[in-house]
Amino acid sequence: MYDILDQLDEKLKKVTSQEDIKQVKSFFLGKNGLITNLFKQLSSLSQEDRIQKGKTLNELKQFVTEKIENKLQEIKNAKKQQELSQEIDLFLDGNTPNLGSIHPINLVIKEISDIFFSMGFGIEDGPEVELDLYNFELLNIPKNHPARDMQDTFYIDENRLLRTQTSGVQVRTMLKKKPPLMFIAPGRVYRRDSDLTHSPMFHQIEGLAVDKKIRFSDLKGILEVFLNQFFGQTKVRFRPSYFPFTEPSAEVDIGCVICGGKGCRVCSNTGYLEVLGCGMVHRNVLKNVGYEGFRGFAFGLGVERFAMLKYGIDNIRLMFENDVRFLEQFSNSFYSKGLV
Ligand SMILES: [Zn+2]
Repeated sequence: MYDILDQLDEKLKKVTSQEDIKQVKSFFLGKNGLITNLFKQLSSLSQEDRIQKGKTLNELKQFVTEKIENKLQEIKNAKKQQELSQEIDLFLDGNTPNLGSIHPINLVIKEISDIFFSMGFGIEDGPEVELDLYNFELLNIPKNHPARDMQDTFYIDENRLLRTQTSGVQVRTMLKKKPPLMFIAPGRVYRRDSDLTHSPMFHQIEGLAVDKKIRFSDLKGILEVFLNQFFGQTKVRFRPSYFPFTEPSAEVDIGCVICGGKGCRVCSNTGYLEVLGCGMVHRNVLKNVGYEGFRGFAFGLGVERFAMLKYGIDNIRLMFENDVRFLEQFSNSFYSKGLV
C-alpha cells in the first residue's frame, strides 16, 4: 500500500497538464487501475478479512482521489494565472467605461446657480410637501384668493399640498434668518397643468434679496446680467405685471432666441419671449415674516423653459422620458465631464 502512495507522489510530481492528470487517475482508479484491481482481489478473502481490507482500501481510494483532485485544481489555477498575466499588455488602449451624462435639467440648474453664486447669492432648500400657510397665505394669497386658480395643485389634506412654487422656501428662510439676505431656491414644484410646454411636475428657481435699501434698479441690473450670461448677449425687456406677493411686479422678456427678434411662430411674431416673473417683495409679505423696515426683490423662473430655449428642445416631455438618445446629447457639457 505504501508502495502505491510512493508511486502516486512520484507520478503527481511529473504532472504538468490536465491530460497528465487523467492518465494518473486512470493508472490508479481506472478499469484496470492499481486500486481497482486490489478491490477485485477482495472476493478471494474470508469475510472477516474482506471487511477489514475493504475498509482500508476505501480509505486509500478516497485519499488518492483527493490528492489527484487537488493536483488538478492546482494545475487549473496555474493555467488561469498564466492566461491572466499574458493578457496584460500595457501598450494596448484601455477600455473606456460608458460614462453617463448630466441631465439637462440638472445642467441648467447648475448653470443658473453658478451665475447667481458669482453675484453673491447663497442657496436654500425646502420640502416639496408644503403647508398652505407657506405656499400661499404668508405670500399674500389668502384662501379663496383668485390667484390660486393659476396655481391649482395636488392637495394632501386641507392644509398640506404639493408646492406650486419654491416661494415657500423664501418664507421659511425669512422666518429663520435675519436680514440682510440674498439667495436662490431651486427645486421641484407641482401644478395641475399638462401640454407640450407644461408638465404637472417641473423645476423652478426663485431668488430673493432683502436689505434696507434695495431698489427696483438692483433687480433689473441683476436679472440683466443673469440673462445675458445665460443666453449670451440678448435684449431684455421688463413689462408691468401682477403677482400677489410682489408690488410692483414685472414680467421679463428676452429677444427671441429662435428668430433673433425678427418675429416667428415661437415668439408669436413679437420678437420677444417671456422668461421670468419678478418684482419688489410686497409689504404684506415682509410684514408677515417680521421684516418691517426692509425692502427686497424676488424673481422666479421655470428651469425646463430655460433648458428648452437654450438647447432648442421643442417638447417638455423629452426631459422626463429618459431616452438615452436625447440625454447623451448633453454628455459633452462642462458639467458632465466631472470638472465641477
Ligand atoms: Zn421669434
